[in-house]
Amino acid sequence: MSDSKTPASPLHALEAHDEFIARHIGPREADIAKMLGTIGCESLDALMAETMPGSILDGQPLEMAPCDNEERVLEELREIADSNRLSHSMIGLGYHPTLVPPVILRNVLENPGWYTAYTPYQAEISQGRLEGMLNFQQMVMDLTGMELSNASLLDEATAAAEAMAMLKRVNRKSKSNRFLVDAACLPQTIDVVANRAVHLGLEIEICDDLESSLAEGDCFGLLIQYPGSDGGLRDLQPVIDRAHEQGALAAVACDLLSLALLKPPGEAGADVVVGSAQRFGVPMAYGGPHAAFLATREDYRRNVPGRIIGVSRDRHGAPALRMALQTREQHIRREKAMSNICTAQALLAVMAGFYGVWHGPDGIRKIARRIHRHACLIAEGLRSAGFELVHDAFFDTLSVRVDEPQRQALLHRAQQAGLNLRADQDGLIGISVNECTRKRHVSLLLELLTGEAVDVAELDARVDSDFQAIPAELRRTSDFMTHEVFGRYHSETEMLRYLKRLENKDLSLAHAMIPLGSCTMKLNATAEMIPVTWPEFAELHPFCPWDQARGYHTLIGQLEEMLGQLTGFAGISLQPNAGSQGEYAGLLTIKAFHASRGESHRTVCLIPSSAHGTNPASAQMVGMDIVVVGCDAKGNIDLDDLEAKIEKHRDNLAALMITYPSTHGVFEEDVVTICNKVRAAGGQVYLDGANMNALVGWSRVADFADVCHLNLHKTFCIPHGGGGPGIGPIGVREHLVQFLPGHVSGLLGPESGSNPAVAAAPWGSAGILPISWAYIRLMGRDGLRRATQVAILNANYIARRLSGHYDILYTGRNDRIAHECIIDLRPFKDATGISEEDVAKRLVDYGFHAPTMSWPVPGTLMIEPTESESLAELDRFIDALIQIRREIDKVGSGEWDAEDNPLKNAPHTIQELASDDWSHPYSREDAGWPVPSLRLGKFFASVARVDNVYGDRNLVCSCPPLEAYQEAS
Ligand SMILES: *Cc1c(COP(=O)(O)O)cnc(C)c1O
Repeated sequence: MSDSKTPASPLHALEAHDEFIARHIGPREADIAKMLGTIGCESLDALMAETMPGSILDGQPLEMAPCDNEERVLEELREIADSNRLSHSMIGLGYHPTLVPPVILRNVLENPGWYTAYTPYQAEISQGRLEGMLNFQQMVMDLTGMELSNASLLDEATAAAEAMAMLKRVNRKSKSNRFLVDAACLPQTIDVVANRAVHLGLEIEICDDLESSLAEGDCFGLLIQYPGSDGGLRDLQPVIDRAHEQGALAAVACDLLSLALLKPPGEAGADVVVGSAQRFGVPMAYGGPHAAFLATREDYRRNVPGRIIGVSRDRHGAPALRMALQTREQHIRREKAMSNICTAQALLAVMAGFYGVWHGPDGIRKIARRIHRHACLIAEGLRSAGFELVHDAFFDTLSVRVDEPQRQALLHRAQQAGLNLRADQDGLIGISVNECTRKRHVSLLLELLTGEAVDVAELDARVDSDFQAIPAELRRTSDFMTHEVFGRYHSETEMLRYLKRLENKDLSLAHAMIPLGSCTMKLNATAEMIPVTWPEFAELHPFCPWDQARGYHTLIGQLEEMLGQLTGFAGISLQPNAGSQGEYAGLLTIKAFHASRGESHRTVCLIPSSAHGTNPASAQMVGMDIVVVGCDAKGNIDLDDLEAKIEKHRDNLAALMITYPSTHGVFEEDVVTICNKVRAAGGQVYLDGANMNALVGWSRVADFADVCHLNLHKTFCIPHGGGGPGIGPIGVREHLVQFLPGHVSGLLGPESGSNPAVAAAPWGSAGILPISWAYIRLMGRDGLRRATQVAILNANYIARRLSGHYDILYTGRNDRIAHECIIDLRPFKDATGISEEDVAKRLVDYGFHAPTMSWPVPGTLMIEPTESESLAELDRFIDALIQIRREIDKVGSGEWDAEDNPLKNAPHTIQELASDDWSHPYSREDAGWPVPSLRLGKFFASVARVDNVYGDRNLVCSCPPLEAYQEAS
């Protein structure tokens, strides 16, 4: 594996430049040989030839740098980080410097116990992060004054777009397609919302005066920014009342922190409230990731996009949390979906919720008051010096009138002095105060702007109220965050133990393999994670001056180049902040391409029945007409059906969305033929690249597809964060490059810069790009190819060892599978009553996270081991499944009771196993320690099987009182 260009000196042999490859890949060399023996294959190369169709297999070495070791890669990243420059950013526009409480930084953000967990589908082993997200919901509900909140959306701009789509769905009174957008909305919000509206067939009107626009005619809804992006504060009530009078509904995009002091939108009658929780202790990270939210009325609970965490109970009646209302995205209702949101921002929502727990309502109020007071001091100082402020009522942001050329000179001077101000409004300078603003920033700023030294203490004495610039009728009078969780953990000892207690309830990659088909839960190496919290990456404002972000631009440029080399695509956009958003962005390039050729009538999107729910949901969002293509008995796209549908829709064919290798875990032999047929009919090929882990280095997707999204949080090592963050960049061929997303900030290159955006920030979740960059550098051209081989080997090894015990649903050529396999449990259900859910929950008793359940085929489990799992761990998992198969047989033979058996009652909690009244007909041994290896250490579910139906019938999405937990035990 050594780099052939390096001369082999004795010392070179001792230098561990390729050591990381074997750290990332689980099986040792000897294991690989053994596993190849088990599956009956000569070598890894032979395995590739046997599994991948010759038509796409590319035997050529990658044209990219060789691997490097952790020490050198981190040094290189350090240099890149050092060319970013830190300033005090007072730009505002939805992003503010914030202090991450160190106890949260180290014990959550930098802790694999939190960041490597998966989306909490298996509620019994996810109670910790579910509670974290429930805290977030409660905090958002309280601050906004709404009845219900979801557990995060991707960013404020997309949340606003979701709000618009939601208002359209729920407003039964208005037939209008008109939607009014406050001109004071954040510019990136307006851009993203307007882009979304076009494709939903809605008509957007940007209004300086919402009330007079309302008077001009019908609309189904409107979006107001509160406070306005230029800082202006005005009463929401009259506009909302007016809207309601004429049958329109109101969405408010708000600054969550301001609501500690301001009358919340819920009290002014808002129907939906969105915003970002970034300034609740989540670094700006040059644009993301952060948790946005959507809060609304109870009545609309079934129309909320994204996940909602709800309270239910377990088998013993104890309170237990889980994702409510089938917001479980693998069951996204395809073309009936309300939204395509899948991966969201779980980790960041959890962090923001903990920030609320740490500070409590008094702490939050104090931070908000300090911010407001600093803003008042600046306002006072500027007014005294004769400056004109646009608004007298404000929370944290001032708009100062300054004519050119003085304006440019002042902005420049401030920048030189380390202060970034908002520069994008003609004739105005914007100043946003934040949690990190100190007296010295205030005096420096005033000195720069007024040209004179300023005595801040003297100003402070002049500002007589902490609410000086908030009119009495807009002040908050209601309490918030009164639940005891926000009052209990204010000493660091208590907080640390709370965080640890929750962490210990969750099974993460720090415990065991998480064999989730299609989700690629591989190693998230520590070296890859370390740079994420370096201030030079974490603390940049997304709209800071270009030359302060040179390091980011280097990193972004290089990562785009690497992804280009791996896929063959001519252009890459890193803007989409999840795979689903990549789908949306990619389909938009296809749509724009057809439009550019006068073929806007091409609206039909072919989607195989096996596709992930996000595919049809995204196609729907761009206004395409979905035509489903069936699959044959082997799980492949049914060619006859495909041809018939192409023929039928030939003139209107826009695209085929195909996942490769397929969600059935096989390399379809005919993929090239399929793509060619679609192209011959004038359609474009969209490839869902979620399964890229089976292709990297061995096939260039651009050779057969036009657009593809990658999930950097699957293939390229960004951890899942318990349900996000993610990044879903798209690659496109040359003819689509000009249609890639742009951004209102003008920060993106000339090619696509003026196109509409799909996310709030130019490079979406830029702050986690160092992870994927580091992974690719650490593995290099040889390591990446090897990772793919071993991922396929591991999957085939599992499939081979399980065969005879379980049916492998689909296999490809030579009886091989790709990087994952589906085991069929339906026969057992018929014969014994044991369901896929029973097996999934029983795996918890064996210390494992269940595989993907009932997707893409109901009644099955989809297993993806990835290359990072060792032979020992694979064997432990396989042995568990084989043992479970024996247990199923005991139920089948009547040896075990059909209802009261370890499978039906799984998972078993420690309370139950240790209880004095054990009444089951099977032993505690059999229940809790079914294999001897569990004696070495065992992960226990913190609650027993959760009752989903009960929770949905009695929907509670706020924190239950603590007594509820005590009573139950
Ligand atoms: C994960 C996945 C998606 C969606 O990606 P997100 O990042 O969760 O939005 C789409 N398609 C497939 C096949 C996937 O596995």
